[in-house]
Order: sequence, then structure tokens, then C-alpha cells
Amino acid sequence: MIIAQTVAEVRAQIRQWKKEGCSIGLVPTMGYLHEGHASLAKQSVISCDKTVASVFVNPIQFGPSEDLLSYPRDFQHDCALLEEIGVDLIFHPSPEEMYAPDFCTYVEMEHLTTQLCGKSRPGHFRGVCTVVSKLFHIIQPDKAFFGEKDAQQLAVIRRMVRDLSFDIEIVGCPIVREADGLAKSSRNTYLNAEERQAALILSQSILLGKKLVEQGERNGQALINALKAHIETEPLARVDYVDVVDGITMQPIEHLQGKILVAIAVFIGKTRLIDNFSVTLS
Ligand code: AMP
Repeated sequence: MIIAQTVAEVRAQIRQWKKEGCSIGLVPTMGYLHEGHASLAKQSVISCDKTVASVFVNPIQFGPSEDLLSYPRDFQHDCALLEEIGVDLIFHPSPEEMYAPDFCTYVEMEHLTTQLCGKSRPGHFRGVCTVVSKLFHIIQPDKAFFGEKDAQQLAVIRRMVRDLSFDIEIVGCPIVREADGLAKSSRNTYLNAEERQAALILSQSILLGKKLVEQGERNGQALINALKAHIETEPLARVDYVDVVDGITMQPIEHLQGKILVAIAVFIGKTRLIDNFSVTLS
């Protein structure tokens, strides 16, 4: 497995692989990898000749009061995990390699980013779209793998690929959970024992939401109210948002119809966690 820290090294290797006729899969991550990331990498290794995983804590997608400095990192563990899966190259650039001191070109998306995480984390998707565009240009993958855990991010990337004519297939991968239901996340490491227990309120709310929709609930606001009320039963939890949006446009919907996304963001103590489910209703 190759570990590359510069754009030039990656480009040279990609050129070589393309000359050999290899298809290339890309798995973008911020590191501190867990089985959720591993599922994306495994999917890429199965379906592409060569897999590149990027490990880069992207500073421009963090807000000023967010956890950029404390974001967990363990590059040695990440390398061991990716090597075991059969990843061919890890791209691990420094922030300086990705962003020149006078960097001033960004990819900004309208509409799909006005709700959910786009609303509560201003500038977040500008940072995500910019770094993912750069990774797409550097690695030129045939396929790129993203988790449904970050459902709005997946919708935003699909739209960016369409709007900016990237010749890349975006593959969405299901949410990987702990045995007790909590969605795996690098940020789960921030939780103390009491908070870890309290964090189950997220997956429980997702299950409740699924059950209410199955039982015929079609009113968006009623669903939001029910989930908020459930989350508020947990004293350590504070709702950031509970939203019901169209699965493509990411805009709020009153009546549940077609592909919908039910997404929640909840602070457990100081840790902000997200979860969601999608469903297509006739
Ligand atoms: P991150 O390192 O948090 O930026 O995540 C990198 C990629 O892994 C993103 O596409 C995430 O959606 C995906 N991912 C993170 N956690 C999970 C999970 N529990 N299940 C599936 N995919 C995940």
C-alpha cells in the first residue's frame, strides 16, 4: 500500500494505473476510521481495480466554534485498517498541500444546502464541495463512495457531480451501526459512558420515525413533533434539528410523498451527532 502526501505523487501513480487500464475507486474520509468507513473501502475494493482512500481533516468545512483542533486522529490505525481491506493508496496531505496560503477558489451550492446541516453549519458544504472537487480532480476516480450516514452530503455530492459534469459514479453505502443501534461515527469517541448511553436516543428516534411512517403518518410537522418530543425525554440531549425533507431537493415537505429523508442532529453534552432514514412512499 502506497502512502502519498503530495498531489504530485498521487498524480504520477494515477497516471500509471490509468495507462494500465485500471478502474479507480475513491473513498474520501477524515480519518479515525471505523467499520462505517471500512464498509465504503470494501465496496470500492470489490468493484474497482485500484482503491484510493483519502485521510484529511479538511479545515475549511469546520465552523469557527467547531471541533477542528480536537477532531480525533490516529493515522497508524487508519493505515493498518485500510491495508487489511486491500486499499492500494492512502492520500494523506497536509492542509498546506491542499490549500495554498492565498487559496481563494471555492465550490458553492445553492438550494440543497439551505436546510439541515447546511443551515446549522454555515459554510460547511462550501468546504465539503471544494475539497471533494479537488480530490476528484487529483484522483480522477471512476467511482466514489460516500455513506448514507451523511445523507445531505451524499445528495449534495450527487448534485455537484451532475451540475459540474464530473464523469464519476457516486455510490451511496448504508449506515453501519454499533450493536445497540448507535450509528458509528468518529465523534462517538468524545462521549463519556453516561453520554454514550444517552446517545441511543438518536437511533431510537430513527426507529420511532420509521414506525410512525409505516403506520401511515404522512404529515411532516406531526412526524417532526413526535421525534422532537421523544428526543427531549433524554435529559442529556439537546435537539439541533429534526427535519423532514424531499430526498432529492433537501427542501422541507408538509405531506410525505415520493423519496423523503428524515434527518436529525442532536447534541449529547457538547458532542453533535447525526442520524437519518430515507423512505420512498407512493
Ligand atoms: P468522515 O470521515 O466522517 O468524513 O466520513 C467519511 C465517509 O464515511 C463519509 O462518506 C461518511 O458518510 C462515511 N461514514 C461515516 N460514518 C459512517 C457509518 N456509520 N456508516 C456508513 N458510512 C459512514
